This record gives sequence, structure tokens and C-alpha cells, in this order.
Amino acid sequence: MAMIKCPECGNEISSDAISCPQCGKKIKGTGIEGIIDSGGSAFVYILAIVIPVGFLIWLGSNIVSCVGHLV
Ligand SMILES: [Zn+2]
Repeated sequence: MAMIKCPECGNEISSDAISCPQCGKKIKGTGIEGIIDSGGSAFVYILAIVIPVGFLIWLGSNIVSCVGHLV
């Protein structure tokens, strides 16, 4: 059992604690809620933007190389 600092108030709490006893900040999320709470939603949004944009760039470069071969 380790002691960790609450990301919200800095209070030292057990790493096994589900939430901070001082401010009530959730430490251990339950399932998808915990992922969203810990900034996972931002990561999902980034992926949702990067994957289609990256695919379009890849597609665009392939078309350009195809056209380059034709010309
Ligand atoms: Zn706290």
C-alpha cells in the first residue's frame, strides 16, 4: 500500500483509496468513467482527429504518387 498525492488538493491518501477523503476527488475510476476522469477523453478525441486526418494525408500522398507515375 503506497501513499499518493491527490491530484486535486494534494492531500496524501492511500493509493488504494477510491476517492480523496478531503475533497472527494475520484482516484480510482471505475471502467470507462475512470478513463474519462483521468483525461482519457482528450486522448480519445485526439485519436478521433489524428486517425482520419492521417488517413487522408496517407491517401493524398498515394494519389499524388500514382499521378506521378502516370505522368
Ligand atoms: Zn483531494
